Amino acid sequence: MNDTIYAISSGAPPAAIAVMRLSGPGAFAAVERLAGTLPQPRRASLRTLRAGDEVLDRALVLLFPGPATATGEDLAELHLHGGRAIVRAVSDALAAMPGMRPAEAGEFTRRALFNGRIDLTEAEGLADLLAAETEMQRRAAIRAAEGGIRRLVEQWAARTVQLSALVEAALDHADEDDVSSADSNLAELIAELSREIDGVAARPGSERLRDGVRIVLAGQPNAGKSTLLNALVDRDAAIVSPLAGTTRDRIEVPIMRNGIAYLLIDTAGLNETPADQVEEIGIARARQSIGQADLLLWLNDVPPPAEPVPVLWLNPRSDLPDRDAEPERLSVSALTGEGMAELWQAIEEAVAALLPAPDAVALNQRQRMLASAAASHLRAASSEPDQLLQAERLRAAMRSFHAITGAIDVEAMLDALFGQFCIGK
Ligand code: GDP
Repeated sequence: MNDTIYAISSGAPPAAIAVMRLSGPGAFAAVERLAGTLPQPRRASLRTLRAGDEVLDRALVLLFPGPATATGEDLAELHLHGGRAIVRAVSDALAAMPGMRPAEAGEFTRRALFNGRIDLTEAEGLADLLAAETEMQRRAAIRAAEGGIRRLVEQWAARTVQLSALVEAALDHADEDDVSSADSNLAELIAELSREIDGVAARPGSERLRDGVRIVLAGQPNAGKSTLLNALVDRDAAIVSPLAGTTRDRIEVPIMRNGIAYLLIDTAGLNETPADQVEEIGIARARQSIGQADLLLWLNDVPPPAEPVPVLWLNPRSDLPDRDAEPERLSVSALTGEGMAELWQAIEEAVAALLPAPDAVALNQRQRMLASAAASHLRAASSEPDQLLQAERLRAAMRSFHAITGAIDVEAMLDALFGQFCIGK
Protein backbone atom coordinates (compact mmCIF):
# COMPACT_ATOMS: atom_id res chain seq x y z
CA MET A 1 0.00 0.00 0.00
CA ASN A 2 3.00 2.31 0.25
CA ASP A 3 3.59 1.79 -3.43
CA THR A 4 2.15 4.18 -5.93
CA ILE A 5 0.49 2.31 -8.76
CA TYR A 6 -0.18 3.35 -12.33
CA ALA A 7 -2.06 1.87 -15.25
CA ILE A 8 -3.81 2.78 -18.46
CA SER A 9 -7.45 2.89 -17.35
CA SER A 10 -8.92 3.44 -20.80
CA GLY A 11 -8.95 0.79 -23.54
CA ALA A 12 -5.84 -0.64 -25.14
CA PRO A 13 -3.87 1.77 -27.35
CA PRO A 14 -3.88 2.94 -30.07
CA ALA A 15 -6.82 5.24 -29.38
CA ALA A 16 -7.49 8.97 -29.55
CA ILE A 17 -6.83 9.35 -25.84
CA ALA A 18 -5.28 7.07 -23.21
CA VAL A 19 -6.04 7.77 -19.55
CA MET A 20 -3.12 6.90 -17.28
CA ARG A 21 -4.21 6.71 -13.65
CA LEU A 22 -1.81 6.99 -10.72
CA SER A 23 -2.82 6.23 -7.14
CA GLY A 24 -0.83 6.31 -3.92
CA PRO A 25 1.38 8.54 -1.78
CA GLY A 26 3.81 9.29 -4.62
CA ALA A 27 1.21 10.09 -7.30
CA PHE A 28 1.52 13.87 -7.14
CA ALA A 29 5.33 13.84 -6.92
CA ALA A 30 5.40 11.68 -10.05
CA VAL A 31 3.17 14.15 -11.89
CA GLU A 32 5.36 17.02 -10.71
CA ARG A 33 8.44 15.29 -12.12
CA LEU A 34 6.73 14.75 -15.48
CA ALA A 35 5.01 18.14 -15.73
CA GLY A 36 7.64 20.35 -14.04
CA THR A 37 5.10 21.95 -11.70
CA LEU A 38 2.02 20.71 -9.85
CA PRO A 39 -1.27 21.82 -11.42
CA GLN A 40 -4.14 22.92 -9.19
CA PRO A 41 -6.17 20.04 -7.74
CA ARG A 42 -9.51 19.10 -9.35
CA ARG A 43 -8.82 21.25 -12.44
CA ALA A 44 -8.02 20.07 -15.91
CA SER A 45 -4.63 21.57 -16.84
CA LEU A 46 -2.77 21.17 -20.11
CA ARG A 47 0.88 20.32 -19.45
CA THR A 48 3.95 19.23 -21.38
CA LEU A 49 5.25 15.99 -19.94
CA ARG A 50 9.01 15.41 -20.01
CA ALA A 51 11.45 12.73 -19.01
CA GLY A 52 14.60 14.75 -18.42
CA ASP A 53 14.91 16.97 -21.53
CA GLU A 54 12.85 14.63 -23.65
CA VAL A 55 9.30 15.81 -24.42
CA LEU A 56 6.98 12.80 -24.08
CA ASP A 57 3.55 14.29 -24.77
CA ARG A 58 1.30 17.24 -24.17
CA ALA A 59 -1.45 15.99 -21.87
CA LEU A 60 -4.40 17.00 -19.78
CA VAL A 61 -3.51 16.54 -16.11
CA LEU A 62 -5.95 16.10 -13.22
CA LEU A 63 -5.10 15.81 -9.53
CA PHE A 64 -7.50 14.51 -6.88
CA PRO A 65 -6.13 14.77 -3.33
CA GLY A 66 -7.04 11.84 -1.04
CA PRO A 67 -8.88 10.63 0.88
CA ALA A 68 -12.06 11.79 -0.90
CA THR A 69 -11.13 10.00 -4.12
CA ALA A 70 -12.15 6.80 -5.88
CA THR A 71 -9.27 4.87 -4.26
CA GLY A 72 -9.12 6.84 -1.02
CA GLU A 73 -5.55 7.87 -1.91
CA ASP A 74 -3.99 10.74 -3.85
CA LEU A 75 -5.12 10.08 -7.39
CA ALA A 76 -3.86 11.60 -10.64
CA GLU A 77 -4.99 11.22 -14.23
CA LEU A 78 -2.91 11.92 -17.31
CA HIS A 79 -5.02 12.15 -20.46
CA LEU A 80 -2.36 11.27 -23.02
CA HIS A 81 -2.54 10.99 -26.76
CA GLY A 82 -3.39 7.32 -27.17
CA GLY A 83 -0.48 6.16 -29.33
CA ARG A 84 1.39 3.01 -28.30
CA ALA A 85 4.82 4.70 -28.17
CA ILE A 86 3.49 7.58 -26.03
CA VAL A 87 1.86 5.22 -23.56
CA ARG A 88 5.05 3.14 -23.43
CA ALA A 89 7.33 6.17 -22.96
CA VAL A 90 5.19 7.58 -20.11
CA SER A 91 4.97 4.13 -18.49
CA ASP A 92 8.75 3.78 -18.70
CA ALA A 93 9.27 7.22 -17.18
CA LEU A 94 6.93 6.32 -14.28
CA ALA A 95 8.55 2.90 -13.80
CA ALA A 96 11.94 4.60 -13.37
CA MET A 97 10.69 6.64 -10.39
CA PRO A 98 11.19 5.21 -6.88
CA GLY A 99 8.11 3.67 -5.21
CA MET A 100 6.20 3.42 -8.51
CA ARG A 101 4.99 0.19 -10.05
CA PRO A 102 2.36 -0.94 -12.59
CA ALA A 103 -1.02 -1.73 -10.99
CA GLU A 104 -2.21 -5.32 -10.77
CA ALA A 105 -5.60 -6.30 -12.16
CA GLY A 106 -8.35 -4.66 -10.12
CA GLU A 107 -5.86 -2.99 -7.80
CA PHE A 108 -7.45 0.47 -7.93
CA THR A 109 -10.74 -1.11 -6.86
CA ARG A 110 -8.99 -3.20 -4.22
CA ARG A 111 -7.54 -0.02 -2.72
CA ALA A 112 -10.99 1.59 -2.83
CA LEU A 113 -12.32 -1.40 -0.88
CA PHE A 114 -9.39 -1.43 1.56
CA ASN A 115 -9.77 2.29 2.23
CA GLY A 116 -13.52 1.96 2.80
CA ARG A 117 -14.49 4.02 -0.26
CA ILE A 118 -16.70 1.16 -1.44
CA ASP A 119 -17.84 -2.09 0.14
CA LEU A 120 -17.69 -5.59 -1.28
CA THR A 121 -21.19 -5.45 -2.83
CA GLU A 122 -20.24 -2.24 -4.63
CA ALA A 123 -17.01 -3.81 -5.85
CA GLU A 124 -19.03 -6.79 -7.13
CA GLY A 125 -21.48 -4.40 -8.78
CA LEU A 126 -18.60 -2.56 -10.40
CA ALA A 127 -17.21 -5.82 -11.79
CA ASP A 128 -20.65 -6.70 -13.20
CA LEU A 129 -21.01 -3.19 -14.60
CA LEU A 130 -17.77 -3.47 -16.54
CA ALA A 131 -18.89 -6.86 -17.90
CA ALA A 132 -22.47 -5.75 -18.62
CA GLU A 133 -23.59 -6.30 -22.20
CA THR A 134 -27.35 -6.00 -21.88
CA GLU A 135 -29.57 -3.25 -20.58
CA MET A 136 -30.90 -5.44 -17.74
CA GLN A 137 -27.35 -6.34 -16.71
CA ARG A 138 -26.33 -2.67 -16.73
CA ARG A 139 -29.29 -1.63 -14.59
CA ALA A 140 -28.77 -4.32 -11.94
CA ALA A 141 -25.03 -3.69 -11.85
CA ILE A 142 -25.25 0.10 -11.53
CA ARG A 143 -27.75 -0.34 -8.69
CA ALA A 144 -25.27 -2.57 -6.82
CA ALA A 145 -22.27 -0.39 -7.69
CA GLU A 146 -24.11 2.68 -6.41
CA GLY A 147 -24.69 1.05 -3.03
CA GLY A 148 -28.20 -0.40 -3.42
CA ILE A 149 -27.22 -3.69 -1.79
CA ARG A 150 -24.93 -2.04 0.77
CA ARG A 151 -27.72 0.24 1.98
CA LEU A 152 -30.15 -2.69 2.28
CA VAL A 153 -27.68 -4.78 4.28
CA GLU A 154 -26.67 -1.80 6.45
CA GLN A 155 -30.33 -1.29 7.26
CA TRP A 156 -30.68 -4.95 8.28
CA ALA A 157 -27.52 -4.65 10.37
CA ALA A 158 -28.70 -1.44 12.05
CA ARG A 159 -31.97 -3.10 13.02
CA THR A 160 -30.09 -6.12 14.36
CA VAL A 161 -27.89 -3.85 16.46
CA GLN A 162 -30.98 -2.22 17.94
CA LEU A 163 -32.51 -5.62 18.68
CA SER A 164 -29.22 -6.70 20.27
CA ALA A 165 -29.30 -3.63 22.46
CA LEU A 166 -32.81 -4.53 23.60
CA VAL A 167 -31.67 -8.06 24.40
CA GLU A 168 -28.72 -6.70 26.37
CA ALA A 169 -31.04 -4.36 28.23
CA ALA A 170 -33.37 -7.25 29.03
CA LEU A 171 -30.34 -9.19 30.30
CA ASP A 172 -29.45 -6.34 32.63
CA HIS A 173 -32.96 -6.29 34.02
CA ALA A 174 -33.40 -10.06 34.09
CA ASP A 175 -33.78 -10.04 37.86
CA GLU A 176 -36.57 -7.46 37.79
CA ASP A 177 -40.27 -8.21 37.56
CA ASP A 178 -42.32 -9.43 34.69
CA VAL A 179 -40.50 -8.83 31.40
CA SER A 180 -42.06 -11.73 29.50
CA SER A 181 -44.43 -9.63 27.39
CA ALA A 182 -41.52 -7.39 26.33
CA ASP A 183 -39.61 -10.59 25.52
CA SER A 184 -42.28 -11.98 23.23
CA ASN A 185 -42.58 -8.62 21.49
CA LEU A 186 -38.81 -8.63 20.96
CA ALA A 187 -38.94 -12.20 19.61
CA GLU A 188 -41.60 -11.14 17.13
CA LEU A 189 -39.48 -8.16 15.95
CA ILE A 190 -36.52 -10.48 15.39
CA ALA A 191 -38.70 -13.01 13.54
CA GLU A 192 -40.10 -10.22 11.37
CA LEU A 193 -36.62 -9.12 10.30
CA SER A 194 -35.68 -12.71 9.54
CA ARG A 195 -38.76 -13.16 7.32
CA GLU A 196 -38.00 -9.92 5.50
CA ILE A 197 -34.43 -11.01 4.75
CA ASP A 198 -35.58 -14.48 3.66
CA GLY A 199 -37.99 -12.76 1.27
CA VAL A 200 -35.17 -10.82 -0.39
CA ALA A 201 -32.89 -13.89 -0.51
CA ALA A 202 -35.67 -15.91 -2.17
CA ARG A 203 -36.04 -13.41 -5.02
CA PRO A 204 -34.49 -14.30 -8.37
CA GLY A 205 -30.76 -13.66 -8.18
CA SER A 206 -28.58 -11.58 -10.44
CA GLU A 207 -26.75 -14.59 -12.00
CA ARG A 208 -29.38 -15.24 -14.65
CA LEU A 209 -29.06 -11.62 -15.69
CA ARG A 210 -25.30 -11.93 -15.86
CA ASP A 211 -24.85 -15.44 -17.28
CA GLY A 212 -27.98 -15.54 -19.43
CA VAL A 213 -31.25 -17.43 -19.08
CA ARG A 214 -30.66 -21.09 -20.04
CA ILE A 215 -33.18 -22.18 -22.66
CA VAL A 216 -32.84 -25.85 -23.56
CA LEU A 217 -34.32 -27.29 -26.76
CA ALA A 218 -34.96 -30.99 -26.31
CA GLY A 219 -37.10 -33.74 -27.77
CA GLN A 220 -37.15 -36.62 -30.18
CA PRO A 221 -34.60 -36.94 -32.97
CA ASN A 222 -35.40 -35.02 -36.15
CA ALA A 223 -38.08 -32.95 -34.44
CA GLY A 224 -36.54 -29.77 -35.84
CA LYS A 225 -34.62 -28.65 -32.73
CA SER A 226 -31.49 -27.45 -34.51
CA THR A 227 -33.49 -25.66 -37.20
CA LEU A 228 -35.58 -23.95 -34.53
CA LEU A 229 -32.47 -22.90 -32.61
CA ASN A 230 -31.03 -21.37 -35.76
CA ALA A 231 -34.31 -19.55 -36.37
CA LEU A 232 -34.39 -18.28 -32.77
CA VAL A 233 -30.82 -16.98 -32.92
CA ASP A 234 -31.16 -15.87 -36.51
CA ARG A 235 -28.01 -17.54 -37.77
CA ASP A 236 -26.63 -20.97 -38.60
CA ALA A 237 -25.28 -22.07 -35.25
CA ALA A 238 -26.43 -25.68 -35.15
CA ILE A 239 -25.93 -28.33 -37.81
CA VAL A 240 -29.22 -29.18 -39.50
CA SER A 241 -29.55 -32.50 -41.22
CA PRO A 242 -32.35 -34.88 -42.14
CA LEU A 243 -30.31 -37.65 -40.51
CA ALA A 244 -31.47 -38.38 -36.99
CA GLY A 245 -28.76 -37.98 -34.37
CA THR A 246 -26.85 -35.17 -36.06
CA THR A 247 -26.60 -33.09 -32.90
CA ARG A 248 -24.49 -35.43 -30.84
CA ASP A 249 -23.41 -32.94 -28.26
CA ARG A 250 -24.80 -29.80 -26.77
CA ILE A 251 -24.54 -26.62 -28.77
CA GLU A 252 -24.75 -23.42 -26.72
CA VAL A 253 -25.45 -20.08 -28.35
CA PRO A 254 -25.50 -16.86 -26.32
CA ILE A 255 -27.85 -14.19 -27.63
CA MET A 256 -29.33 -10.91 -26.46
CA ARG A 257 -32.91 -9.87 -26.99
CA ASN A 258 -34.84 -6.94 -25.55
CA GLY A 259 -32.12 -6.27 -22.99
CA ILE A 260 -32.00 -9.87 -21.72
CA ALA A 261 -29.13 -12.33 -22.20
CA TYR A 262 -30.09 -15.89 -23.15
CA LEU A 263 -28.08 -19.04 -23.58
CA LEU A 264 -29.84 -21.29 -26.09
CA ILE A 265 -28.84 -24.92 -25.80
CA ASP A 266 -29.47 -27.50 -28.52
CA THR A 267 -29.35 -31.11 -27.38
CA ALA A 268 -29.10 -34.55 -28.91
CA GLY A 269 -32.45 -36.17 -29.77
CA LEU A 270 -33.87 -38.35 -27.01
CA ASN A 271 -33.75 -41.53 -29.07
CA GLU A 272 -35.27 -44.56 -27.31
CA THR A 273 -32.91 -46.84 -29.23
CA PRO A 274 -29.52 -45.12 -29.54
CA ALA A 275 -27.42 -46.42 -32.44
CA ASP A 276 -24.07 -46.27 -30.68
CA GLN A 277 -22.23 -45.20 -27.55
CA VAL A 278 -21.61 -41.67 -28.81
CA GLU A 279 -25.34 -41.14 -29.22
CA GLU A 280 -25.91 -42.62 -25.79
CA ILE A 281 -23.53 -40.11 -24.24
CA GLY A 282 -25.24 -37.31 -26.17
CA ILE A 283 -28.59 -38.38 -24.76
CA ALA A 284 -27.21 -38.53 -21.22
CA ARG A 285 -25.91 -34.98 -21.67
CA ALA A 286 -29.26 -33.87 -23.08
CA ARG A 287 -30.98 -35.15 -19.93
CA GLN A 288 -28.44 -33.31 -17.81
CA SER A 289 -29.11 -30.09 -19.76
CA ILE A 290 -32.84 -30.52 -19.23
CA GLY A 291 -32.24 -30.72 -15.48
CA GLN A 292 -30.24 -27.47 -15.56
CA ALA A 293 -32.63 -25.55 -17.81
CA ASP A 294 -34.31 -22.32 -16.76
CA LEU A 295 -36.86 -22.95 -19.50
CA LEU A 296 -37.38 -26.08 -21.57
CA LEU A 297 -38.60 -25.94 -25.17
CA TRP A 298 -40.03 -29.42 -25.59
CA LEU A 299 -40.24 -30.71 -29.18
CA ASN A 300 -41.72 -34.12 -28.75
CA ASP A 301 -44.96 -36.01 -29.25
CA VAL A 302 -44.77 -37.50 -25.78
CA PRO A 303 -45.32 -35.20 -22.78
CA PRO A 304 -42.34 -33.40 -21.20
CA PRO A 305 -40.37 -34.98 -18.33
CA ALA A 306 -41.46 -34.35 -14.75
CA GLU A 307 -38.42 -32.15 -14.07
CA PRO A 308 -39.19 -29.06 -11.94
CA VAL A 309 -38.48 -26.77 -14.89
CA PRO A 310 -40.84 -24.40 -16.72
CA VAL A 311 -41.75 -25.94 -20.08
CA LEU A 312 -43.12 -24.70 -23.39
CA TRP A 313 -44.46 -27.71 -25.30
CA LEU A 314 -44.12 -27.06 -29.01
CA ASN A 315 -45.60 -28.49 -32.13
CA PRO A 316 -42.66 -27.94 -34.50
CA ARG A 317 -42.59 -28.10 -38.31
CA SER A 318 -46.21 -26.97 -38.19
CA ASP A 319 -46.14 -26.27 -41.95
CA LEU A 320 -45.96 -30.00 -42.69
CA PRO A 321 -49.34 -31.52 -43.61
CA ASP A 322 -49.13 -34.40 -41.13
CA ARG A 323 -48.89 -32.10 -38.10
CA ASP A 324 -52.09 -31.87 -36.08
CA ALA A 325 -52.13 -28.81 -33.90
CA GLU A 326 -52.97 -29.70 -30.33
CA PRO A 327 -54.32 -26.90 -28.17
CA GLU A 328 -51.75 -27.19 -25.35
CA ARG A 329 -48.84 -27.07 -27.79
CA LEU A 330 -47.55 -23.96 -29.49
CA SER A 331 -47.32 -24.50 -33.24
CA VAL A 332 -44.11 -23.20 -34.79
CA SER A 333 -42.48 -23.54 -38.16
CA ALA A 334 -38.86 -22.50 -38.42
CA LEU A 335 -39.29 -22.78 -42.17
CA THR A 336 -42.22 -20.39 -42.71
CA GLY A 337 -41.77 -18.40 -39.49
CA GLU A 338 -45.28 -19.29 -38.33
CA GLY A 339 -45.58 -18.99 -34.56
CA MET A 340 -42.05 -17.62 -34.07
CA ALA A 341 -43.22 -14.24 -32.73
CA GLU A 342 -45.67 -16.04 -30.41
CA LEU A 343 -42.88 -18.34 -29.27
CA TRP A 344 -40.63 -15.41 -28.37
CA GLN A 345 -43.51 -13.79 -26.53
CA ALA A 346 -44.16 -16.99 -24.59
CA ILE A 347 -40.44 -17.25 -23.78
CA GLU A 348 -40.29 -13.67 -22.53
CA GLU A 349 -43.38 -14.19 -20.37
CA ALA A 350 -42.00 -17.42 -18.87
CA VAL A 351 -38.61 -15.83 -18.24
CA ALA A 352 -39.95 -12.68 -16.58
CA ALA A 353 -40.66 -14.67 -13.40
CA LEU A 354 -37.07 -15.95 -13.33
CA LEU A 355 -35.41 -12.54 -13.50
CA PRO A 356 -35.18 -9.88 -10.83
CA ALA A 357 -37.88 -7.22 -11.11
CA PRO A 358 -36.47 -4.21 -12.99
CA ASP A 359 -36.55 -1.93 -9.93
CA ALA A 360 -35.65 -4.52 -7.26
CA VAL A 361 -32.30 -5.07 -5.59
CA ALA A 362 -30.98 -8.40 -6.89
CA LEU A 363 -28.46 -10.32 -4.79
CA ASN A 364 -25.84 -12.62 -6.28
CA GLN A 365 -25.39 -16.17 -5.01
CA ARG A 366 -22.74 -15.27 -2.44
CA GLN A 367 -24.89 -12.48 -1.05
CA ARG A 368 -28.02 -14.68 -1.05
CA MET A 369 -26.27 -17.47 0.88
CA LEU A 370 -25.02 -15.06 3.52
CA ALA A 371 -28.40 -13.30 3.74
CA SER A 372 -30.09 -16.69 4.24
CA ALA A 373 -27.54 -17.55 6.92
CA ALA A 374 -28.26 -14.24 8.67
CA ALA A 375 -32.00 -14.91 8.44
CA SER A 376 -31.62 -18.35 9.98
CA HIS A 377 -29.50 -16.96 12.85
CA LEU A 378 -32.25 -14.41 13.46
CA ARG A 379 -34.92 -17.11 13.28
CA ALA A 380 -33.00 -19.13 15.86
CA ALA A 381 -32.62 -15.99 18.00
CA SER A 382 -36.35 -15.31 17.87
CA SER A 383 -37.17 -18.69 19.39
CA GLU A 384 -34.26 -18.76 21.84
CA PRO A 385 -35.43 -18.50 25.47
CA ASP A 386 -31.93 -18.03 26.89
CA GLN A 387 -31.03 -14.37 26.45
CA LEU A 388 -27.30 -14.93 26.47
CA LEU A 389 -27.66 -17.38 23.58
CA GLN A 390 -30.11 -15.04 21.90
CA ALA A 391 -27.53 -12.24 22.01
CA GLU A 392 -24.92 -14.63 20.58
CA ARG A 393 -27.22 -15.58 17.68
CA LEU A 394 -27.79 -11.91 16.89
CA ARG A 395 -24.02 -11.47 16.79
CA ALA A 396 -23.80 -14.38 14.34
CA ALA A 397 -26.34 -12.61 12.11
CA MET A 398 -24.19 -9.47 12.29
CA ARG A 399 -21.16 -11.47 11.18
CA SER A 400 -23.13 -12.65 8.12
CA PHE A 401 -24.10 -9.07 7.25
CA HIS A 402 -20.50 -7.97 7.55
CA ALA A 403 -19.39 -10.86 5.39
CA ILE A 404 -21.77 -9.57 2.71
CA THR A 405 -20.33 -6.06 2.78
CA GLY A 406 -16.77 -7.24 3.40
CA ALA A 407 -16.37 -5.43 6.72
CA ILE A 408 -14.13 -7.32 9.11
CA ASP A 409 -13.95 -5.86 12.56
CA VAL A 410 -17.44 -6.79 13.75
CA GLU A 411 -16.76 -6.83 17.46
CA ALA A 412 -15.16 -3.40 17.44
CA MET A 413 -18.12 -2.01 15.55
CA LEU A 414 -20.59 -3.56 17.97
CA ASP A 415 -18.61 -2.26 20.94
CA ALA A 416 -18.62 1.25 19.53
CA LEU A 417 -22.34 1.11 18.91
CA PHE A 418 -23.16 -0.32 22.30
CA GLY A 419 -20.96 2.35 23.81
CA GLN A 420 -23.35 5.05 22.57
CA PHE A 421 -26.39 3.00 23.39
CA CYS A 422 -26.77 3.59 27.10
CA ILE A 423 -30.03 1.96 28.09
CA GLY A 424 -30.50 2.25 31.78
CA LYS A 425 -26.80 2.33 32.54
P1 GDP B 1 -33.24 -32.10 -34.89
O1 GDP B 1 -32.69 -33.45 -35.10
O2 GDP B 1 -34.40 -32.13 -33.93
O3 GDP B 1 -32.22 -31.07 -34.52
O4 GDP B 1 -33.90 -31.65 -36.28
P2 GDP B 1 -33.30 -30.75 -37.45
O5 GDP B 1 -33.37 -29.33 -37.09
O6 GDP B 1 -31.98 -31.30 -37.86
O7 GDP B 1 -34.40 -31.00 -38.57
C1 GDP B 1 -34.74 -32.27 -39.04
C2 GDP B 1 -35.32 -32.12 -40.44
O8 GDP B 1 -36.52 -31.40 -40.40
C3 GDP B 1 -34.39 -31.37 -41.39
O9 GDP B 1 -34.46 -31.97 -42.64
C4 GDP B 1 -34.98 -29.98 -41.42
O10 GDP B 1 -34.73 -29.31 -42.64
C5 GDP B 1 -36.46 -30.27 -41.27
N1 GDP B 1 -37.15 -29.15 -40.63
C6 GDP B 1 -36.78 -28.51 -39.50
N2 GDP B 1 -37.67 -27.55 -39.20
C7 GDP B 1 -38.61 -27.55 -40.15
C8 GDP B 1 -39.79 -26.79 -40.38
O11 GDP B 1 -40.17 -25.87 -39.63
N3 GDP B 1 -40.53 -27.11 -41.49
C9 GDP B 1 -40.18 -28.12 -42.32
N4 GDP B 1 -40.97 -28.37 -43.36
N5 GDP B 1 -39.06 -28.84 -42.13
C10 GDP B 1 -38.28 -28.58 -41.07
